[in-house]
Amino acid sequence: MSVVLVVNSGSSSFKYQLIDMRTETVLASGLVERIGEPVGRSTHTVVAPPADGASPTLLDATYERELPIPDHTAGFGVMIDAFAENGPSLAENPPTAVGHRVVHGGARFFEPTVITPLVEINIDELSVLAPLHNPANLAGIVAAKKAFPDVPHVAVFDTAFHQTLPRAAYTYAIDAELAAAHRIRRYGFHGTSHKFVSEAAAAFVGRPLTELKQIVFHLGNGASVTAIDGGSSVETSMGLTPLEGLVMGTRSGDVDPAVLFQLARRANMTIDDLDDLLNKRSGLLGIAGSADFRDVSAAVERGDDDALLAFEVYVHRLRAYAGAYIAQLGGVDVISFTAGVGENAPVVRAAALETLGFAGIEIDPERNGARGRGIRRISTDDSQVVVLVVPTNEELEIARQTLVAVAG
Ligand code: ADP
Repeated sequence: MSVVLVVNSGSSSFKYQLIDMRTETVLASGLVERIGEPVGRSTHTVVAPPADGASPTLLDATYERELPIPDHTAGFGVMIDAFAENGPSLAENPPTAVGHRVVHGGARFFEPTVITPLVEINIDELSVLAPLHNPANLAGIVAAKKAFPDVPHVAVFDTAFHQTLPRAAYTYAIDAELAAAHRIRRYGFHGTSHKFVSEAAAAFVGRPLTELKQIVFHLGNGASVTAIDGGSSVETSMGLTPLEGLVMGTRSGDVDPAVLFQLARRANMTIDDLDDLLNKRSGLLGIAGSADFRDVSAAVERGDDDALLAFEVYVHRLRAYAGAYIAQLGGVDVISFTAGVGENAPVVRAAALETLGFAGIEIDPERNGARGRGIRRISTDDSQVVVLVVPTNEELEIARQTLVAVAG
């Protein structure tokens, strides 16, 4: 029996999935949130196994409970109670390993890693580079190890897939000694998703990953694009942190760094103010007043000019990156769109590639507009470049990599 529990831990919440790896099916998923607040909340969904011959998985039921959850350790107790009360039984489906999403692996971790005390120290030390994420990920690891002390726990890093970036892509053109002393370089993020999507895309087109030049647009609340040559990440838009690159829900993506000097000098903003501005009050939110792409789209429909501008800036940036990455790769075979916006907004996909007909990219409007759940092609049959929508599945990828690490 090979069952993996996948944990994605934030500072006041964690998400989990229990996955049967023989069939790669989710048995249950859930969210424990508002940890440390007066009243916390646990949501647990049991997934019914498909009946023989039936392909769609039926969502059996979702259970909710509200109760105080003082810390992550208590949170795992609540999760175990949810399994005991609603199923599936953890005694009958015991996790053989626990896979943890860890945001920053620095230059140190380039593959999924079984968590030892030394690995925990390293993840903690890398909090310098990801102060919001790594401590929260570590809190989840420490608590999960108490709840499941007898199985291996594995860290799967968002940065790991980008360890193949060539130095010309990861080096910022600043003082070299200062950069080395403070580990200032491009690391890249969303690696688990970019890896999963590029592998799924290669399988879908039926060609070896090693022969393909690919571009993957991961467009969720956070957004990044990666150029993948023969299965290796060779360029990616997020940098030292997940702030650089595309326009996101609340993050600015690329700005001239001098914007910060100007605001510090002219608007008397502190470093913390500027951090907050670019990470939490910019992007779609900054321009249009909403971070949610659906709200922005609805406002565009109503004729709201700020929303239209936000959409235009968003798409303008996608095009610029598409062009740049085709140039870096020296051509492209497959372009994939994934995550909330990438999977659900045909208008973004069409606009992002609209001007690239000269590069052999042709979207079929009907295929692009059609609703679908699985991986699907949206380019015309004559298009030289295959354009796909590929639903991402970071949890499954974490579970797969967890098994790889455990097999050692
Ligand atoms: P996260 O990065 O938090 O995992 P998601 O991948 O869920 O985010 O993406 C969230 C974004 O996807 C939001 O901006 C949301 O508006 C957008 N989105 C979700 N569903 C749709 C849809 N049907 N049409 C357009 N945008 C959508």
